[in-house]
Amino acid sequence: MIIDYDVLVLGAGLAGMRAALEAKRRGASVGVLSKVHPLRSHSGAAEGGINAALDPGDSWEIHAFDTIKGSDYLADQDAVEIMCREAPRDLIEMEHMGVVFFRGPDGKLGTRAFGGASKARTYFVADITGQALLNALYDTILKEGVKTHDEWFATALYVPDGTCRGAVAIDMLRGELHLLRAKAVILAAGGMGRVYEPSTNALICTGDGHALAYRAGAPLMDMEMVQYHPTTLKGTGFLMTEGARGEGAYLTNKDGERFMQRYAPKMMELASRDVVSRSETIELAEGRGVDGCVYLDLRHLGAELIHKKLPQIHEIALNFLGLDMVEVPIPIRPGMHYIMGGVKTDSDGATPLAGLYAAGECACVSVHGGNRLGANSLLDTLVFGRRAGAHSADYVKSVKPLESGEEFLKSEQQRIQALLDRPYKGETHARLRLELGTLMDDKVGVYRDEAGLQDALAKVRAIQARAQSVSVQDKGRIYNQALLFALELDYMIDCAEATIMSAIERKESRGAQARSDYPKRDDANWLKHILVTQTPGADPKISYQPVTITKWQPMERTY
Ligand SMILES: Cc1cc2nc3c(=O)[nH]c(=O)nc-3n(C[C@H](O)[C@H](O)[C@H](O)COP(=O)(O)OP(=O)(O)OC[C@H]3O[C@@H](n4cnc5c(N)ncnc54)[C@H](O)[C@@H]3O)c2cc1C
Repeated sequence: MIIDYDVLVLGAGLAGMRAALEAKRRGASVGVLSKVHPLRSHSGAAEGGINAALDPGDSWEIHAFDTIKGSDYLADQDAVEIMCREAPRDLIEMEHMGVVFFRGPDGKLGTRAFGGASKARTYFVADITGQALLNALYDTILKEGVKTHDEWFATALYVPDGTCRGAVAIDMLRGELHLLRAKAVILAAGGMGRVYEPSTNALICTGDGHALAYRAGAPLMDMEMVQYHPTTLKGTGFLMTEGARGEGAYLTNKDGERFMQRYAPKMMELASRDVVSRSETIELAEGRGVDGCVYLDLRHLGAELIHKKLPQIHEIALNFLGLDMVEVPIPIRPGMHYIMGGVKTDSDGATPLAGLYAAGECACVSVHGGNRLGANSLLDTLVFGRRAGAHSADYVKSVKPLESGEEFLKSEQQRIQALLDRPYKGETHARLRLELGTLMDDKVGVYRDEAGLQDALAKVRAIQARAQSVSVQDKGRIYNQALLFALELDYMIDCAEATIMSAIERKESRGAQARSDYPKRDDANWLKHILVTQTPGADPKISYQPVTITKWQPMERTY
């Protein structure tokens, strides 16, 4: 079947739904595609909150400076200015849409402190902020007539004559492939957390959007910048929100010492995430951890605060480790959390590939540069989702409808059928996913060096070759998850390749890229973005893009 829209949004998390709403309000016909029910998108897992400089004692300039310093001066400052100026309007809009943000005893919106922020500007709904935002947006897009295709899995972008004109997707319930033809496509497919094992991300975060754009020839930018969150639970890797430290929790080592005093005497536990994750890694390497972990200690906050403001993480630690954080410190370690890099866009979400937009975690505007501040990602999804929706709705007005596409749909059907027809033997997607994830965590984690990265690249290329012979056991059509896992594996391998190539290229330490063989930041040579573009029949191509500096010159970064 071929279905036509003006704007096709690939992804129904916060970025996708915000984009869809805006495009629809501006008169475009809009379809949204999501491989899970929209409310199951990873945005729903966001705990801590969303940043905006709303308080009279705060300003968008201070928010922008914190963001730029947090990015280790790699963020594009014009884009950061837009995000921080527009943050209050998007936050208030979400409140009007029905999100019940926390209010203090005076009835005013209340904030919590967050890492790398010089003012408390994080607005929140207990520790379920993402879920609250997602529900409000979902209600609204349904009310305003946006069509969603839930549990449809995108397999390829349709790019005739160098312009993006839609996507092919599998309707998982029926196992049929369809072409969703459009005048513009907005990629909002989220992060690539599962390229690492463990990760705080949901199992569905497999970098599909990054890879679809990469395959279509759009450049990926800042891909070496992979954020490790300082507080992920021992074993499972579940996130223990930064909101805990925002409320005053301590980080301690095996001697009960608040070790952050050695690394960030001013901001302590609330230094930026790259700094805290490196500090923990040093504590562990120097033998001051227990069983590969340090501790998150909330005991002094008291039962009432924990139950009221941090109920979800309290329950997670209790259910998964049998530990009650009211009584005992919780073992945690740094874990993969977020990808700063993504499909390169301008501040209206447009990518260099005509007709293709991107927003949210799969995009790179770049407002996070080398390191994202906590609670700036939800903000990024709303501001740049809205802007991509608006710009695409204007763009499609001058685009003519297409008749073609049958051939492309057929070729995708054949490609998928060939995978299904492969007899079940040899490599499995599960084994390769695990190998890939542990390799990335081991060699492309908090600290990196040339030998480890070259080794990782060789191994990823070997995994890529082995993935060609992956077969799936389930040969049926209905909800064939094995088939989707195999397709996702290919997306993950593309993301891993782009990340490692960028990490090899950047011969300095900046933000989340900590090279033990190049320990210093080197503004003279590396104050620039690295882009990776796939080229047919050859190795991916590396290119550069200058960092936009408006008024904040790079300085030494201390917390
Ligand atoms: C545990 C956790 C806690 C977090 N807490 C915070 C926080 O407190 N504050 C903050 O600012 N940030 C937080 N973040 C980061 C933030 O939540 C995410 O970066 C953001 O929500 C991403 O939104 P998105 O719309 O880009 O993508 P997502 O919400 O991940 O949505 C992606 C969408 O794309 C769809 N999709 C993907 N691939 C395909 C495909 N092949 N075919 C069809 N559909 C597809 C999915 O179905 C989904 O609907 C947290 C992240 C995690 C993992």
